[in-house]
Amino acid sequence: MKRVLLIVGIVFVALFGVFFATVGSAFVGLVPAADGPVAPGVQLVRDGYVNAYLIDLDDGVALVDCGNDPEAKTLLAALKARNLEPSSVKAIFVTHGHPDHVAGCQQFPGAAVYVFEGDRGLAEGTEAGKGPLPKFMGIQKGKSVKVTNVLVDAATVQLGGVGVTAWNIPGHTGGSAAFLARGVLFFGDSATAQSDGKLRPAPWVFSDDLEQCKASLRGLAAKVPAGVSKLAFAHSGVFENASALGEYAKAP
Ligand SMILES: [Zn+2]
Repeated sequence: MKRVLLIVGIVFVALFGVFFATVGSAFVGLVPAADGPVAPGVQLVRDGYVNAYLIDLDDGVALVDCGNDPEAKTLLAALKARNLEPSSVKAIFVTHGHPDHVAGCQQFPGAAVYVFEGDRGLAEGTEAGKGPLPKFMGIQKGKSVKVTNVLVDAATVQLGGVGVTAWNIPGHTGGSAAFLARGVLFFGDSATAQSDGKLRPAPWVFSDDLEQCKASLRGLAAKVPAGVSKLAFAHSGVFENASALGEYAKAP
């Protein structure tokens, strides 16, 4: 009996070890993310382990994602530091519907919320994620947002003088988006910046379909126009030029 318990215990510990090594490896070797300006009119706001971005508009700001905090404390502080109110947020561009990217959106009820149709249920908290870990975590009540505008692939949303172009890059989730605004290309979780200069696709344990994510990134490289100045990610720092995407697409 004791021996059986010992074996069960060892298997249990081993499984936990594999689990933490798998999840932890997703966060190893990344370019560190820091609060502050990324490009003219674009600011990174860190919320724990996930980034949101402020994009300056003529009459306020747009957000790329809203972080994991339902109270959006770091975003509200960043707005306050610029004498902006929650009502200054006119639009939110959701890179995908995972809870750690939409939880804070509820603090900006006046903003238009843009999501690709494939992630509407995920963002609104009516569907759980399909990747191994998101499926295990299930729907996280209180970390959702009502979608007001469905994005169209390769179309540009014009907000005064600022255009935000959206591409559907399925794989991490079905409705994952890349956005281009003010010369910065935003990837959400579909990729991260590694400190060796390479772009890394989303970790499989968080993703619906890793192979599809890789194909979408290669496809995106062919679609984005010249003049992209920075690559911005949700769980790592920024790449200072766009070359890593082209190199990723060319790699065998
Ligand atoms: Zn995600």
